[in-house]
Amino acid sequence: MPLYRLEAVVLYHRYLGEADKIVTLYSRERGKVRAVARGARRPRNRLLAGTQPYSHSDFLLFSGKGLDTISQCELKESFYTLREDLQRMAAAAYVAELYDLLIEEGEKNEGLFFLLLSTLHLLTDGEDIDLALRYFELRFLSLLGYQPQLTQCVHCGGPIEGRALRFSGQLGGVLCPDCWGQDGRAVSLCQGTLEMLKRFLTMTPRTLRVLGAAPAVRRELERVLRICLEYRLPRELKSRRFLALVQGEGF
Ligand SMILES: [Zn+2]
Repeated sequence: MPLYRLEAVVLYHRYLGEADKIVTLYSRERGKVRAVARGARRPRNRLLAGTQPYSHSDFLLFSGKGLDTISQCELKESFYTLREDLQRMAAAAYVAELYDLLIEEGEKNEGLFFLLLSTLHLLTDGEDIDLALRYFELRFLSLLGYQPQLTQCVHCGGPIEGRALRFSGQLGGVLCPDCWGQDGRAVSLCQGTLEMLKRFLTMTPRTLRVLGAAPAVRRELERVLRICLEYRLPRELKSRRFLALVQGEGF
């Protein structure tokens, strides 16, 4: 049976039988992969630590007739805070669900792998979970090829600097005042929010740690990016309600 190596993050695990589980991995080499981890729920099992949700590990797998099987794994980083702190856990579950819903199995994309790792770092020890998720959402959409048009009017190509703008999820970008009518559901977008979106596309996650945003800008960022994602999603996200609940309740 052919063996292969993967560097991967565990997105999900699902129990199988008494001691096994099926894990969904997002790997650097092969994108999303599902595999069986035999015995991984037994205490002291060598697969136990590395197959917990959000763990980052090196895996050795062998392929068989059905799902591939994990033979060995070596934990690189456990991200255990994401399984302990309710708000951080909800945010990580949201990220994992987006990877699961919008990415097909076996599509390699190293950019998405490194975005996942940097996002888990931000969610683990960053101060501003809210802004980290907005940054993640825009970078994620861009890496999938759905980057919204933010430098000119998405309909007429006209200038947008200093003008009253709206954002169209349907057209995938900013509308100048002459083109508002192109999408009756377009939402308002202030210049401050537009600038923040553009900064997200060029800055590193490290910069995000020192960035702040006014409450009005945060609300617009959340709304605009949610609209962008909703046009791509096959169904409503289960994790979004959990996230809204823990954030709203201030757990
Ligand atoms: Zn226009």
